[in-house]
Amino acid sequence: MKYFIQTYGCAMNTSDSERVAGILERLGFTRATRIEAADFLVFNTCSVKQKAEDKVTGLRKNLARLHRQNRDLKIAVTGCMIRKTSSQKTAEHDSLLDVMPEMDIAFRIEDVARLPELLKQVDPALVFEDLPDEGTLENYFKIAPKKSNASSVFVPIMTGCDKMCTYCIVPFTRGRETSRDMSEIVDECTRHVEEGALEITLVGQTVNSYGLSFTDRKSGKFAELGKSPFATLLRALDSLYGKGLRRLRFTSPHPRDFSDELIATLAELKTICPYIHMPVQSGDNRTLRRMNRNYNVEEYKTIMRKIQAVIPGCAISTDIIVGFCGETDEEFENTYRMYEELRWDLCFISRYSPRKGTYSQKSLKDDVPAATKDARWHRLNALLKEITAQKHAAHIGQTLEVLVDTQIGASCIGRSREFKEVHFRSGRPLIGKLVNVQITGSREFYLDGELARSNS
Ligand code: SF4
Repeated sequence: MKYFIQTYGCAMNTSDSERVAGILERLGFTRATRIEAADFLVFNTCSVKQKAEDKVTGLRKNLARLHRQNRDLKIAVTGCMIRKTSSQKTAEHDSLLDVMPEMDIAFRIEDVARLPELLKQVDPALVFEDLPDEGTLENYFKIAPKKSNASSVFVPIMTGCDKMCTYCIVPFTRGRETSRDMSEIVDECTRHVEEGALEITLVGQTVNSYGLSFTDRKSGKFAELGKSPFATLLRALDSLYGKGLRRLRFTSPHPRDFSDELIATLAELKTICPYIHMPVQSGDNRTLRRMNRNYNVEEYKTIMRKIQAVIPGCAISTDIIVGFCGETDEEFENTYRMYEELRWDLCFISRYSPRKGTYSQKSLKDDVPAATKDARWHRLNALLKEITAQKHAAHIGQTLEVLVDTQIGASCIGRSREFKEVHFRSGRPLIGKLVNVQITGSREFYLDGELARSNS
């Protein structure tokens, strides 16, 4: 049997999909290269934006067509849109199964080890000999991922979120913030490095809150890791440099838990890359309070300045929501001015849309007209393009170290340590290799270059 996984959303979902693939390959499934060739489809969903949810609910026609082509096709859905693990055969369904009867199974990602049981519910003829280990039912992090890229891997270090931003559904779908044991993370990273990983990205909803949540403190497991368990974890992983690890990244940190100890640690480590994605969401304190972000504009700016003081040239990107409930023209102007001042390297801008079940959907008014949200998005996007182009042009003439992840013929694409996408040509096979590239030109969202002489 063949499987195909369609992943939406963030790095956490990419990493989760690798664990789903790990389970399926253990059950005897093989990966299909096209959706049409699969007998089992998994949609790993994102709930951050209405658009992301619409992409899934808009699939109905296509799924019906695929069902007509393959009567035995089974379809599962997981990720942030799912609250209940169930199948069409269980009495109490996740509500998405009622809205989309083409789906057979819904599972919370934390319950992925129950997939064999759910598949057998919808097809009793299926026989699986190698079932997931016992421990993976309680702790899905114990599932070995099927890596899509051996030289650059994602490693989840926590799940859930306690931050309760008023617009976000994650705390309700993923549940309470819980961190993974440090020894388990170090063991997994060591295995990846021994298998050839040069770059590791630690992922979690608020990755720098590692070990600090209510559940973590109650467990007592992180008591010995000091005031910043995340800094302790980074120091432990940095020691993998000796085994071949060259780059350590993490996404996404929450400004509230960006302590001085963590910033000082970043400055010390050999593997840490000069790129941080730190969501700000708004440049206005009143909006930030309505969003329940728990920091103010000055605090965010201070953290950014401190990071750039200890890691000179550190690229910083962010997320901004425009048109949040009650956002006035003046509040938006504050965000615009903050962008002009901080000049983020990149920004993911979204228009606010209420997510069902969140505080903002239930208790605040989505009162910014769609046309105003559009106008604000376009204005900010124009500024983003202008600043990104200037930042890219500043790299012309520099030599950047690039980890190659794509090569089609002689066209190579990879990322620099600053997370800039770099395009260049080479006749040699370079996927998974670190090479030096001389930057010769810049485009809106990537850089052009040629292999530097130092590689030969
Ligand atoms: S920090 Fe806020 S936006 Fe991020 S996952 Fe948690 S609740 Fe959602």
